Amino acid sequence: MGEEETKREPRKYLGIYFECCNVYGRVYQNKDKTAYSGFCPRCMRRVSIKVGEGGTNQRFFKAY
Ligand SMILES: [Zn+2]
Repeated sequence: MGEEETKREPRKYLGIYFECCNVYGRVYQNKDKTAYSGFCPRCMRRVSIKVGEGGTNQRFFKAY
């Protein structure tokens, strides 16, 4: 909570839990900065998370 370890990262990302395969991974912000999108590292299932109007406070998401 409140950690800023990602500050130096060139692209913002979120940690995400892929429920399909029971693994954690990362999804990166798209170039329009409107959403985060990525793939499950195991089954390559595509996920995308929209960035809300005020951004999002959550650091971890679940992909269903
Ligand atoms: Zn998966």
